[in-house]
Amino acid sequence: MLRYRHAVRLIQSRSYSAGAAGSSGGTGDEDKHPIRRTFRLLGNDMRKIKEFFVPKDPVSEDQGDRILTQSKFKFEGERTRDPTLPDEFQTHCDVLVIGGGGIGSSIAYWLKEKARDGLNVVVVEKDDTYAKAATRVSLGGLCQQFSLPENIQMSLFAADFLRNAREQFGNEVPLQFTPHGHLCLAGEEQAESLLRSSQLQNELGARNELLTADRLATRFPWLNTKGIAVGCHGLEKEGWFNSLALLSNFRRSASGYGAHFVSGEVVDFDFHSQTDISVVGDAGSDEGNYTGLDKAIIQLSDGTRRTCKFALCVIAAGASSGQVARLARIGVGPGMLQVPLPIDVRKRYLYAINTQAENAPGMAMPLTVDPSGTFIRRDGLGGNYICGHNSAEEDVGDKMAVDPQYFDEHIRPTLATRVPSLGEANVVDSWAGLYEQNVYDENGIVGAHPYYHNLYVATGFSGHGIQQSLAVGRAISELIMDGQFRTIDLSRLSFDRLIVDQPMYELNNVLS
Ligand SMILES: Cc1cc2nc3c(=O)[nH]c(=O)nc-3n(C[C@H](O)[C@H](O)[C@H](O)COP(=O)(O)OP(=O)(O)OC[C@H]3O[C@@H](n4cnc5c(N)ncnc54)[C@H](O)[C@@H]3O)c2cc1C
Repeated sequence: MLRYRHAVRLIQSRSYSAGAAGSSGGTGDEDKHPIRRTFRLLGNDMRKIKEFFVPKDPVSEDQGDRILTQSKFKFEGERTRDPTLPDEFQTHCDVLVIGGGGIGSSIAYWLKEKARDGLNVVVVEKDDTYAKAATRVSLGGLCQQFSLPENIQMSLFAADFLRNAREQFGNEVPLQFTPHGHLCLAGEEQAESLLRSSQLQNELGARNELLTADRLATRFPWLNTKGIAVGCHGLEKEGWFNSLALLSNFRRSASGYGAHFVSGEVVDFDFHSQTDISVVGDAGSDEGNYTGLDKAIIQLSDGTRRTCKFALCVIAAGASSGQVARLARIGVGPGMLQVPLPIDVRKRYLYAINTQAENAPGMAMPLTVDPSGTFIRRDGLGGNYICGHNSAEEDVGDKMAVDPQYFDEHIRPTLATRVPSLGEANVVDSWAGLYEQNVYDENGIVGAHPYYHNLYVATGFSGHGIQQSLAVGRAISELIMDGQFRTIDLSRLSFDRLIVDQPMYELNNVLS
């Protein structure tokens, strides 16, 4: 973090001596803001570049060396445009999305839903089994109990969308949305912040109630309120859903609209220098010195390497996003490129437990989050529950094995205190998941990269990414097609905040 801040200051002192400090987020002296100025100047160039590079009819080009994409993805209900025709490797595209998890597939869905044949969208996914993807293991929790308006609005949109999902996706892959409130508990120290956040959430359209310890004890007799000052209980628009089913719907609909899903890994980029471009505000880029992103080098699952030339590229590679960004010299290049995409992998465990205790919580149990970070919700009927723990510890490695001691050391003691009837529950299953932690401020990074005119980023959502995937996909599609956010303004979550060192801390990171 220190090195990171040092890099930021270095860049600020070199390039932003005038007008930059404190001007992130779209207020005040926007005209002087070097990054926005750059975007304006580059806007026209970008359009020209896109027209120049994207052939009118990509299919008619490069007939000789086409091969099949060999996508193995066979989720229920996936359809291609014409099942009798093989999908073909796209040597050129308008938008290349790196990563086909919840976020990347949502971006493809929204782009194609709006543009249909007007945009050629390619999604590259390195593992069609999604064995290590966060989307596969997510708990699918949806709630509005955040402190930042952007996060609240994104989750409100998800609730609305999920309620009417059949209209968008059809009936084939049910999302299994279970409407149910979340209950976030706070001790004396966090009570004030919980109160303020609840007020904001309700102003923005969420509906929740604040319950004192006494009222909590009456409402939820299975809960031990020792050390709890207040709880925030969601009354509507919250619940949980099957995140793999959501991914399946995104892919199925996007491919139905003509998006191409390639089974392969982006292993490098090809660059090209553009003498007519300079990046204002970047001391490392004088006129004639700009090197842009041109092509992605993709290693297909059969080991062959192909290139795909793109007009625009989106990094949505989950926990690997920082690595992919480094391929684009982000974090290792000069000037603005010194600032890395601060995404690291975090490992979390989930446990399925069962109890037949008579006084165990029943159907009315909300998804309950203890101030310690331990969370639990029921899983259907029959005394089944799913629980886990979010810690601030830096979890290590990307192995998927579950630590056999973890439950007894970190979760059972809290469960035994907070929900005594679950203290002796049996662990019947356990699994590990990896997610994309933004180690700068633990919040999503959404939007254009300040140096590359044709690169967007959508990652870093930590424990709340699948519920936000709907809004994030739509937001990126707005940026690409309309040049600005149209529905929810996510400009404060852009990469710019890393450059000007303005963190956007989320106080109520429910599952981060
Ligand atoms: C245990 C656990 C519980 C969670 N619970 C919740 C919850 O209740 N609610 C909630 O909203 N969120 C939850 N999350 C978080 C949520 O799952 C993630 O934020 C979200 O799924 C992230 O989606 P993604 O597409 O960014 O990442 P991923 O799903 O990880 O997808 C990224 C994809 O990129 C691919 N990729 C990586 N590098 C490359 C490359 N070079 N080339 C091609 N492809 C590449 C990967 O193979 C992967 O499939 C949870 C996460 C975990 C781990």
